[in-house]
Amino acid sequence: MIEEIRRGRKQRMLEKQAGTEGKRRIASWIHVYRADADARIPADEAKLAGDMAEGCYSCVGTSHSYNGVQIVPNIRAMMMEEGGLHITAFDPATGIARIGASVTVEECKLFLLRHKRRLLNSGNYMKQTVVGALATGTHGFGERGVMADAVTAVTFLDDSGRRVRVARGEPDFAYVALSFGTIAPIVELELETAPIEAFISTSYVDRLSALHDLQQGTIASNWCVLPYSNPDDPVMMLHTLAPCDARVEAQSEKKGGGFFAPFARAIIGRYQWLDRWVPKLRRPLQRFICRLDVRQVDRTTTDPEDLDYLYDPKKGQAKDRAPNILRGCFSTTYTGYNLAFFVPLDKAPAIVKFIMLEADNLRDLGFFLKGVISVRELTGSSDLVFAANHAGPVAAIDLFADPRDYGWLERLQRLVLQYEPATRPHFGKSALVPAFRESLGEHHLDRLMAIHRKHYPNGRLMFSEQVRAFLQTGKALPGEAAAEAKLA
Ligand SMILES: Cc1cc2nc3c(=O)[nH]c(=O)nc-3n(C[C@H](O)[C@H](O)[C@H](O)COP(=O)(O)OP(=O)(O)OC[C@H]3O[C@@H](n4cnc5c(N)ncnc54)[C@H](O)[C@@H]3O)c2cc1C
Repeated sequence: MIEEIRRGRKQRMLEKQAGTEGKRRIASWIHVYRADADARIPADEAKLAGDMAEGCYSCVGTSHSYNGVQIVPNIRAMMMEEGGLHITAFDPATGIARIGASVTVEECKLFLLRHKRRLLNSGNYMKQTVVGALATGTHGFGERGVMADAVTAVTFLDDSGRRVRVARGEPDFAYVALSFGTIAPIVELELETAPIEAFISTSYVDRLSALHDLQQGTIASNWCVLPYSNPDDPVMMLHTLAPCDARVEAQSEKKGGGFFAPFARAIIGRYQWLDRWVPKLRRPLQRFICRLDVRQVDRTTTDPEDLDYLYDPKKGQAKDRAPNILRGCFSTTYTGYNLAFFVPLDKAPAIVKFIMLEADNLRDLGFFLKGVISVRELTGSSDLVFAANHAGPVAAIDLFADPRDYGWLERLQRLVLQYEPATRPHFGKSALVPAFRESLGEHHLDRLMAIHRKHYPNGRLMFSEQVRAFLQTGKALPGEAAAEAKLA
């Protein structure tokens, strides 16, 4: 609790510096990665190009990645969200929107709503810049789940500050549209949009073994399991979307639990709260819910003007309401470190059980998974080479832990990669380790670096040390501690 208050204070101090140029601390979400950099605010493209010409630089959106992909110490950090690249435009004839690099996902969604349009998909948080979110492969769930899949053209500044526009269909597009900071600064994106739409949203409390049956007739699913319930058949919260159908009526049904059912439901209803504030009860309560075998169905039609994540029956954003584990399994974590990766869709249940067993085995060392293990299903496939589902449908697995347990999450990721080599990284949430080179394709990574060198021959665009190691760009650059200790 005291740690949380301290972290909150630090975050507020960083936020106070927003909009100021000069030496500043930049930190990833939850602050596991941090560094001092020379912040620059791109008031317009001319100022941005001028700052780029001065020396080495990198780009930061809102610094909402967990894994430090946006953190490069001691160089110019272009603080894109704090700048003035605020263009928002919509062409009704094509349905294409133009969005500038300072625009957040929330601003973009509010702008589109004025035209009765929406993004094809989105993640569950909206403070990120559209460009930053797309650069790391941020996703929602269902068809075309990777947000960058909607990009039709990317405009960026090259080494000489010249605008370069690469559109869908051009040879480099499939690399440039999702390139985790290796092509930067992107100043503008053009995006496909869709008309606003209502969905039938159904949430269940059930068992993982019922997943396949409950998904029949639906178009998108995300689910989560209680990590300390029963690895043989874990307690699952499933949320599905189906096309809107006026004949389908709202439904709310509760089964099981016997005499203790109201108690078990009260725990489920307050799960996020209990998990955060009474962690010692996490395992016994999950076992208790599991033993009672509670089941529940809750069906509703979403408001077409809902802003967040396509599952909310109400207009606006869930941030204004209390989180609900049934519809809000993926509510924002302000206290937990989130590590995520993608596995082939059909392997997801086995991998989730594996993680449960491994995590339970580490309990005596003081490690525990927070909250839920969550899984978002990304169906279909994407032409973008570094999209999660480039090679076919995948499940995005999200793990949460206390920030001091970050290293355990990385160990779990390594184990999953060992057993399932097709595991792919989330560029804003995975530990970006060289072991991912194989699943991404060595030749694809080499091609990305060739495109990078074509546009940035002077080598002033820098990316984080993790990305440099991952892309095998040579010796590590001295971070602050390495320089001070005279290690590099
Ligand atoms: C609370 C929370 C919830 C989240 N929910 C989801 C979710 O539901 N689904 C999901 O997939 N992810 C989710 N994420 C991860 C998040 O969407 C990504 O990490 C995203 O990249 C953060 O965007 P940002 O604007 O903060 O970019 P940053 O983290 O600042 O930067 C990310 C990358 O983009 C590059 N970049 C930024 N701006 C530019 C630019 N103008 N030109 C070129 N490169 C640029 C940076 O160099 C860096 O490589 C969540 C993160 C948080 C903190």
